[in-house]
Amino acid sequence: KGALTIVGCGLHPGQMTLETQSIIENSQKVLVVAPNALSIHHIQQLNKNVENLGRFYEGDVTRLETYRLMTARMVELVKQGYSICTVFYGHPGIFVLSTHQAFEILRNQGYEVKMLPGISADACLFSDLNIDPSTTGCQSYEATQFLLTQRSFDTSAALILWQIGLVGEHTLKVQSPGEYGLSAMTKLLTKHYPANHQVCLYEAPTLPGFAPRMDWLELTQLPQAEVKSISTLFIPACTDLIFAIERLTWLNLAEEDLS
Ligand code: SAH
Repeated sequence: KGALTIVGCGLHPGQMTLETQSIIENSQKVLVVAPNALSIHHIQQLNKNVENLGRFYEGDVTRLETYRLMTARMVELVKQGYSICTVFYGHPGIFVLSTHQAFEILRNQGYEVKMLPGISADACLFSDLNIDPSTTGCQSYEATQFLLTQRSFDTSAALILWQIGLVGEHTLKVQSPGEYGLSAMTKLLTKHYPANHQVCLYEAPTLPGFAPRMDWLELTQLPQAEVKSISTLFIPACTDLIFAIERLTWLNLAEEDLS
C-alpha cells in the first residue's frame, strides 16, 4: 500500500537532517520542490527516482493551480501504491499549501502519512539576526494576508512578514510585489510603527558558507527597497511590554512575590 512522508531539506544542502536523508534514500520515489539547483542535485545523489515538482510553476498558471497540481501528483502516486517522499525546501509544512492538502486527503483515505520538520526561514532568521522570539513574543503572517485582513496585532512583540516579495500580487502569476504592494504595506505599518522604525529585509543563504542578506532600513524606505521572492521582513517590537498587574490575583500573588 502506498504511503507518503513529507520532509524538508532546509534552505541549503547542509541543513538536511539525518532522518530526512535516510527517508529520501529509502523511498521508492522522491518528489522535490527546491529553489536552488544544489539542493536538487544533492537529493538526486541520494535517490535515483527523483521527480521535480518545480515543473508545475511553468507556463501561464496561477500559484493556486501549481499547488493543486502538486497535491494531485502526490495523491496519484500514493494511490498507485508507491511509498513516496516529498521534499520541500525549508520546513515542508510552513507556508506550503500542497503538503498539508495531500496530508489530509491521503490520511482521510486511510494511507500512512507523516510530516517531518525541516529548518525553516524563520529558524535561520533567529540565528542570523541573533533574536530570540521569546524575548518579546513573535508574530508571523503572510504579507498579503496581513495587509488585506483585519488584524489586531501587537507592536510590543516582533513581527515576521513572509512573502513580502509578493505582497499585493493579486494575479498569483508573478514572482514580484504588486505595483502598490510595498507602499500599501508601508502605509499600514506606519499607522502602528514610527516612520523611522528600523526593519530588516532578511534572506538566508541558499548555499552553505555564504552570508545572509540582513538589510536594516527605515520603514519609510521599504517601498523603494529591492525585494525578492525569498525575502522575509522582520519588524522588531516598538512598544514596551505592559504588565497585566490585575492578573496577579488570578494566581493569588502580590507584586512582591515576583522576583
Ligand atoms: N517552507 C519554507 C517557506 C516557503 S514560503 C520555509 O520553511 O522556510 C516562501 C517564503 O519563505 C518567502 O517568501 C520568504 O518569506 C521565506 N523564505 C524562503 N526562503 C528564504 C530565504 N532564503 N531567506 C529568507 N526567507 C526565505
